Amino acid sequence: FQAIPGWVRAAAATLLAAGHQAYLVGGAVRDLLWGGAPQDWDLATDARPDRVEAIFCHTVPTGKAYGTITVLAEGGSLEITTFREDLGYSDGRRPDAIRFGTEIAQDLLRRDFTINALAYDFASSEMVDPSGGYADLRRRLLRAVGDPSVRFREDGLRMFRFYRFLATLELHPERRTAAAIRPEWAKPVSLERIRDEFSKLLLGARVRPGLVGLRRSGLLALFLPELEDTDLEQGRYHRHTLWEHLLRATDTIQPQLELRLAALLHDIAKPATRFENESGVHFYGHDQRGAEMTAAILERLRYPGRTVETVTKLIRWHMFLVQPQTGDAAIRRLIAKVGPEQVRNLLELRRADIVATGRIDPQVWEYWRQMAGRILEILEEPAVKEERRLAVTGHDLMSRFGLKPGPLIGRVLGALQEAVWEEPDRNERDILLRLAEEFLNGKGEAG
Ligand code: ATP
Ligand code: MG
Repeated sequence: FQAIPGWVRAAAATLLAAGHQAYLVGGAVRDLLWGGAPQDWDLATDARPDRVEAIFCHTVPTGKAYGTITVLAEGGSLEITTFREDLGYSDGRRPDAIRFGTEIAQDLLRRDFTINALAYDFASSEMVDPSGGYADLRRRLLRAVGDPSVRFREDGLRMFRFYRFLATLELHPERRTAAAIRPEWAKPVSLERIRDEFSKLLLGARVRPGLVGLRRSGLLALFLPELEDTDLEQGRYHRHTLWEHLLRATDTIQPQLELRLAALLHDIAKPATRFENESGVHFYGHDQRGAEMTAAILERLRYPGRTVETVTKLIRWHMFLVQPQTGDAAIRRLIAKVGPEQVRNLLELRRADIVATGRIDPQVWEYWRQMAGRILEILEEPAVKEERRLAVTGHDLMSRFGLKPGPLIGRVLGALQEAVWEEPDRNERDILLRLAEEFLNGKGEAG
């Protein structure tokens, strides 16, 4: 507990000086004992919320009805929650009522898992551990506090947290706790809360046990039913079923939310577009369809627009082809479509996809290295990197050649864009106008 920052200790000292108790609780205690870096600092105290507001200068009544006050201190902000007992959970998500308490032990017993039910006492510098959380942490066991069935029925979100902690903290599930999970208890949980736990799970060090558990338990089907039909074999280029492929891709890709979502969903259209003939299993243009399905899924889960856009784009273009005979123009076109800032992510997705097939022949790998190398080289071209726009606009074309608005303008601009992708030096007004003139004359002759 040496690592508790001074400003957190100072807040605790303020509570103690005012004659109250002060404990560090929740994820911070767990992370400090585990060797991780705490994300946020939660204190528990016997002081009632009104008292906490009176003791500290800068406070926000974040969840005052449940006892939580946010204190804005010099070094950061922390949450101070009054000891509490939850009374009855008839809606399956939030306590019907709470009662403020005077003892830390009671407060710890309302918490979800034993590893989250530890406290550090600032007054005595000792640990409080009424449910055996420290021993569980040492043997890496994820276990509910009390009777798991009761705890999951009280609040269905805890089941999603269970799989999230399996993935992020590399724990083993305690058998009784895992066996208690029932999808029907998840009904009262909002999709947003599920999504937030799911996102944290996806960023975990070991997504596999988390995702496999979610799917086996029936919880995944509640918010991502599209992943249900993924037990299919995928044909000769793959060693695994689609589900296994998606798991492997998600496991191997860098831990960044957009990338993990893209890896998990990159072949989501395969079950729907599958067909077979003499030459094996095939899938219709699954990248376009996959992008559409992905957009629908992520919008349903209310991910921010930017996340939806990025993931969709990565999936739309991840099957890009670069062959020895592919020209630089085609690579510039690809970069323009994905956007230069997403190119590295696109390569990362494709790499994970290749690795996850389970059959990487050295020749394929060498070919992949060359193609990634060429793309990264072209990405460094100033014109490509800066997404330089065409040096002429539709208006220029209309005024110069006396054209009326219509599809012809779009066709000329398209041809000019292609010419610039072929040869970036052509992106100058005079050159482009001359090319436009040639294009229009050619059209005239052809017509
Ligand atoms: P992290 O902050 O890394 O996401 P955490 O364990 O701190 O993980 P929080 O959501 O910040 O999770 O909650 C703080 C603490 O509150 C938890 O450690 C746990 O003791 C308790 N807690 C949170 N959610 C629940 C819940 N649904 N049921 C019971 N206790 C909970
Ligand atoms: Mg926390």
